[in-house]
Amino acid sequence: MQGLSARTWAFGELLVPRQCAGCFGPGEVLCVQCRRHLRQVPYPVDRPRPLGAPVWALGAYSEVRRNLIVAMKEHDNRAVRAHAGAVLAAAISFLQARGDIPAGLGLDLVPAPTRVRSARKRGGDPVAALCHHAAVRLPGVEVAECLVLAGSAADQSTLTGEGRWANMHGAVRFSPSGSHGGGAHHPHDMRGHNVLLVDDVITTGATVAAAIAALRTSGALVCGVLVLADA
Ligand SMILES: [Zn+2]
Repeated sequence: MQGLSARTWAFGELLVPRQCAGCFGPGEVLCVQCRRHLRQVPYPVDRPRPLGAPVWALGAYSEVRRNLIVAMKEHDNRAVRAHAGAVLAAAISFLQARGDIPAGLGLDLVPAPTRVRSARKRGGDPVAALCHHAAVRLPGVEVAECLVLAGSAADQSTLTGEGRWANMHGAVRFSPSGSHGGGAHHPHDMRGHNVLLVDDVITTGATVAAAIAALRTSGALVCGVLVLADA
């Protein structure tokens, strides 16, 4: 009996890290304080340049949100992704209830594009995973992974301000076959679909603007953008 419970405990430990991903303090997945920190309702964010659709953020790019985003990206942390997905789902419900985005007409969540290579290295695109975790909680909401980054685009984190806009201009492409590279996916026909673009962090807004422009070429109706953090 003892052997069995020890194994069960070890298995549980693998799935549920005993450290908070937000503050590294004691806690399972996220501690009470960090969960409370993430409860903020989405609010509109502005950038000096027009982005092409309204943007809402789940909060400021605080230390807790930064740690959460890193945990989702670098460690393929399923429990953290699932919690963040639930938070995203609640925010989408909130925006729908308030009439900011369509409800009851069908809504597609489109993850902002990631570099395929870095996504693979990280064990899957964390923003796409976040969208899937949110969509399973929301009736009528689906995920369409239909945006890809041009190979020529440099890593945005190496650039600042104007460089980011120049780098992203035309660098996001609509890809009907999806961003997986796998053949099992049916092509996305986005014509007339209500779309909510989802990204982890907004900085200058260059990526968001390029993604919105690419989505428009597909005939999608971009009703807004939701980001985890406003930097
Ligand atoms: Zn914490």
